[in-house]
Amino acid sequence: MLATMIMDLDHLLAKPIFDPLRCSIGYHPLHSFYAIPVYALLLLLPVTRIAAVGLLFHLFTDTVDCLWNFSHCHACYLNSRIYSLRKGMRKLLGRKVDD
Ligand SMILES: [Zn+2]
Repeated sequence: MLATMIMDLDHLLAKPIFDPLRCSIGYHPLHSFYAIPVYALLLLLPVTRIAAVGLLFHLFTDTVDCLWNFSHCHACYLNSRIYSLRKGMRKLLGRKVDD
């Protein structure tokens, strides 16, 4: 489980490396919306199940951190990949996109 904290090494690829107002979900490669389904699929294999639980729990705690941040910073929400994904999904479903 502690080894799943290694996934935060992808923060080293970002500039700046640490931004307290940035939501890591959808931003960093190992926190991307493409990586999340892969982690979910790892749940199916007994060998990788424990690591998958750790990775998904890591993403859950990062998401809680983002939601906490968004509650204090609306601009952070509007600049996040979570907002972009939500907006794209609403467009795709033909629903009203509000800002
Ligand atoms: Zn993280």
